[in-house]
Amino acid sequence: TTSDKHVFFVFGASGDLAKKKIYPTLWSLYRDGLVPENIHFIGYARSQLTTEKIFENAHKYMKVKDDEHEAYEKFLKLNSYVPGSYDKAEDFEHLHSETNKITKQPTAHRYFYLALPPSVYDSVSEMISKHCRPESPGLLRLIVEKPFGKDLESSNKLSEHLNKSYSEEEIYRIDHYLGKEMVQNIIVLRFSNKIFSRVWNRDSIAAVNIIFKEDIGTQGRGGYFDEFGIIRDVIQNHLMQILSILAMEKPRSTTGEDIRDEKVKVLRCIAPIKLEDVVIGQYTGDKESTDPEHQEGYLDDKGVPKDSTTPTFAQVVLFVNNERWDGVPFILRAGKALNEKKAEIRIQFRDVPGGMFDDNIQENNPNGKLARDELVIRVQPNEAVYLKLNTKRPGEMDFSIEETELDLTYKERYQDVKLPDAYERLILDVFTGSKINFVRSDELQEAWRIVDPVLAEIDKKKIPVIPYKFGAVGLREAFAGAAKHGYIYTGTYVWKDERSG
Ligand code: NAP
Ligand code: NAP
Repeated sequence: TTSDKHVFFVFGASGDLAKKKIYPTLWSLYRDGLVPENIHFIGYARSQLTTEKIFENAHKYMKVKDDEHEAYEKFLKLNSYVPGSYDKAEDFEHLHSETNKITKQPTAHRYFYLALPPSVYDSVSEMISKHCRPESPGLLRLIVEKPFGKDLESSNKLSEHLNKSYSEEEIYRIDHYLGKEMVQNIIVLRFSNKIFSRVWNRDSIAAVNIIFKEDIGTQGRGGYFDEFGIIRDVIQNHLMQILSILAMEKPRSTTGEDIRDEKVKVLRCIAPIKLEDVVIGQYTGDKESTDPEHQEGYLDDKGVPKDSTTPTFAQVVLFVNNERWDGVPFILRAGKALNEKKAEIRIQFRDVPGGMFDDNIQENNPNGKLARDELVIRVQPNEAVYLKLNTKRPGEMDFSIEETELDLTYKERYQDVKLPDAYERLILDVFTGSKINFVRSDELQEAWRIVDPVLAEIDKKKIPVIPYKFGAVGLREAFAGAAKHGYIYTGTYVWKDERSG
C-alpha cells in the first residue's frame, strides 16, 4: 500500500561498484520518480564514512544537471550511512535498530544490495537474514552480483547457503546483460514477428554467433580477473544468458517464471563443452603501438602472476540438442584488449540452394556463392538490428548481385529516446518484484554444468593460451574454429558509411 515504507541498503557502500553504479542508479531512479514513495537508503560498510563523503566520492558519476539540484538535495536527505562489520551479530542488530528508528515502521520493506567481494557473501547474507528481517508482512529482497562461485561446486555451495536463509523468491541474482535494451528486445523480435518464427530453427539457420569484445585490458584489476578468466567472467553468465533467450521455445506468457522455465529447458539440452571446441588466448603488449596502454600485455598488469595462463580471450562452441537446434553451432566468443568494444549476436542463415545466380555473384566473393543472409543484433554500443541480404545491384542492366542491408539503427530511428542503463531497469525490477531479468538458481546450476568440465580440463592439462596482440581483430584459430563449424565469413560486405566515404 502507499503508506508502506521502503529501505534500500547498499552493502559495500564504500566500494567501487557502489560509487560508480549503485548510487548513480538510485539517484536517477529517484529523479525520474521510479522509486517507491517513502523510501530511505542506507549505506553499510566497515569504513568510517559519512553520507557526505560517499556522495563526494561518487559525485562525478551522479551526473546531476543544473536544474536538478533541488531534487538532488532531497535525495541526499533520504540517505544514511551505518558503519559495521560483515560478521558480528551486534553490528547487524545495530543496523536493524537504526533502520527501525529511521522508518518508525518495523514492517517496512527491505532491499539489500550486496556490492561486496564474494568472500563475505556467506556471512553477510546469514547475518542479514538473522538480524535484519522486517516484521511480517514486510518484504525482504536480497540482490547479489556475480561471481556466483568459481565452478559448479562452489556455486552450488553458495546457492545452498543462501537457500538456508532465503526463499528463492527473495533472491535477485543480477546478470546485468539481462537489463540491456537489445537483450530484452530479443524476446519481442522473436515472438512478435511472424517472419522470424518460421525460420528460427535448424532448417534455416546455419550458425549463431554471440560475441563480446572489449578494447581495453584489465587496467590494474587483473588480480581479481586472474582468478576467473574470461570464460567464467563473461561466457558462463552473460553470453549463455543471451543464448538461452535466443534458443528458447515460446514462453506461455511474459511473466518471469514462464520465461525462466523456457530458458532453463534450453540449457538442459546442452552437453558440456568439449575441449576440441575451445580456443583460448591471452593478450600481449603491442610494442609498436603509440598508445601506452596497448604496449602492456596481460602479464604486465601488476596484480597478475608472471606465469599466469588465465585466458583473456575464449571461443567455445555449444550445441542445443533438441528438435529445433540439433547440429546448429552456437559460437560464443569473448575477449579483452581487442580492436573494438562491442557485444552482438549474429544469426547466419543457410545457403540458397540451386545455382540460378551462379553467373551473377559479386566478383570479390571468395566462395563464388551468394553471400548468406545474416541477422545482426548489436547489443552495444550503437544499438541496432540489421539484416544483411542480397539485392540486385542498383541500376545494372543484368542480374548482378550486391550485398546490402535492412537497417534499424536506434540512434537514427529513435533519436529522442533515452535507453535506460541496465542497472536502472534491474533495480526498478527489484522494487516491482519482477523476476524476468534475474537468474534463477537452476539456470545458474545448468550454466555451470556446461562449462565446468572443460574449465577443469584446461586447468588440469595446462592447455596453453594462444598469445594475441593488444588491439587484434581476433584470433586466427578462433575464426578457423567458427569456419569449421559452418560459419562463413566472406569479408565482402560494406556498410553504407564506408561505402559513401
Ligand atoms: P570493492 O570495491 O573491492 O569492494 C566493496 C567494499 O567491500 C569495499 O569498499 C570494502 O568496504 C569491502 N571489502 C573489500 N575487500 C574486502 C575484503 N577482502 N573483506 C571484506 N570486505 C572487503 O568491490 P566492487 O568493485 O565494489 O565490487 C563489489 C562486487 O560487485 C564484487 O563481487 C564484484 O565482483 C562485483 N562487480 C563489480 C563491478 C565493478 O564495476 N566494480 C562490476 C560487476 C560486478 P569496507 O572496507 O569499507 O568494508
Ligand atoms: P564484419 O566486420 O564483416 O564482421 C562479421 C563477422 O565476421 C564478425 O563477427 C567478425 O568477428 C567476423 N570476422 C572478422 N574477420 C574475420 C576473419 N578474418 N575470419 C572470419 N571471421 C571474421 O561485420 P558486418 O556485419 O559485415 O559489418 C561491417 C561493418 O558495418 C561493421 O563495422 C558494422 O558495425 C557496420 N554496420 C553498422 C550498422 C549500424 O550501425 N546500424 C549496420 C550494418 C553494418 P568479430 O565479431 O569477432 O570481430
